Amino acid sequence: MDLRAQRAAAAALKDRLAALGSSHHITNGAALVIDNATGGIIAWAGSNDFFDAANSGQVDGVTALRQPGSALKPFLYALAMAKGSRPSDLIEDAPIYAAGGHAPLNYDKTYHGFVRLREALACSYNVPAVRLVVKTGLAAFLAKLKDLGFDSLYKPAEFYGEGLALGNGEVTLLELVNAYAALARGGVWLPARFELESPAAPARRAIGRSEAYLITNILSDNSARAPAFGLNSAFNLPFDFAAKTGTTKDYRDNWAVGYTPEWTAGVWVGNFDGSSMRRVSGISGAAPALKEIALAMEKLYGSTPFKRPPGIRTVKVCPDSGLPPSSFCPSSMDEVFSAGNLPPGQCAQHSPAAESAARPSPAKLSVKFPSDGDIFRLDPQTPRAAQALFLKSAGAEGEITWTLDGKELAERGEKVPWPLEPGSHSVFFTEIRNGKTVRSGPARFHVVR
Ligand SMILES: [Zn+2]
Repeated sequence: MDLRAQRAAAAALKDRLAALGSSHHITNGAALVIDNATGGIIAWAGSNDFFDAANSGQVDGVTALRQPGSALKPFLYALAMAKGSRPSDLIEDAPIYAAGGHAPLNYDKTYHGFVRLREALACSYNVPAVRLVVKTGLAAFLAKLKDLGFDSLYKPAEFYGEGLALGNGEVTLLELVNAYAALARGGVWLPARFELESPAAPARRAIGRSEAYLITNILSDNSARAPAFGLNSAFNLPFDFAAKTGTTKDYRDNWAVGYTPEWTAGVWVGNFDGSSMRRVSGISGAAPALKEIALAMEKLYGSTPFKRPPGIRTVKVCPDSGLPPSSFCPSSMDEVFSAGNLPPGQCAQHSPAAESAARPSPAKLSVKFPSDGDIFRLDPQTPRAAQALFLKSAGAEGEITWTLDGKELAERGEKVPWPLEPGSHSVFFTEIRNGKTVRSGPARFHVVR
């Protein structure tokens, strides 16, 4: 521990809680700072006031189990990039349907259409994160989190479901800050520790160097997070600083974690009794305390810019398509890529020829519902037998037959019910027209728990 850092961290937490406390019903918080080079703990503030028995001051908020909300998303994006995703890839931020297929499940209140991965992570949109975990696989994501030292996530993947991407599994501030320290180290995980004399457990590579850099580059991009948090957010500091917030349902927990190449710091605010705070989002609750701590650490230890590892390329892309621009694109932007995974081809959205070619041809057979790429969520409060969606066809004239996951359904017609099953599915239909079997294109969709 460094006494100066310890005092600065405790004071920042105390100031912030005093400023927020009574009007927002926030009774406690915790802060932790780790030295990236050694994994040594520089500052540990387990609660606002150890002697405040009324607010459980003796509970250690650094090791208490809490849901992290969006704070796990960077590790999911790192995994997706290791599996071939790029910062410029488009991903759809669209409603996720509740079981039954009628009311969209509102994770986010507003949806942003197609967004680039950089923007989706920096602005912490929820639906793209659910789409990514469907793509990478839930078990692979859980295994990655264990690589990163989240031992508290010991239950099987099915227990968490895709909600793991939105932080429904409980972790500690210690695990969280230490996992971000691995990002700061370019992907190498080290155990956090007090006693630097005792031999440390061996370091291990948890994230590839390129992926760690791409995530750091996104988390330190002030303009990418501006649509959600504004240009003058608490994370817009006068030195290189990568940061992420997390907030849980009903504002029970509020997190902010950030790092430079030298140190990693995290703050949690909330109530040890689990009650909800009032009107506090990630950016107004824990983030200002993290900002105070970051400014203090920079004074104590200085700061250096994030180093770009070999094998990273900067390439111009069209902001709308995420692909290398053509001469018709109205603008272009720099994006960073792993040299082995550059964006292919060229933007076709802005070529004048493409506009007329993109018009849909009329009267084809197609699945009207669900749409290709839709995500549905099972409602835990409704019996499974009551959760079905109606498959709907378009363009058919005669009797139609449905095929779902390669199996023909017994029921026929324009609109047939199908009881929801978790997992990835693919559906199409056929009809007989002039003695010939005509087939619709497939709609692929996913059901999450
Ligand atoms: Zn373009």
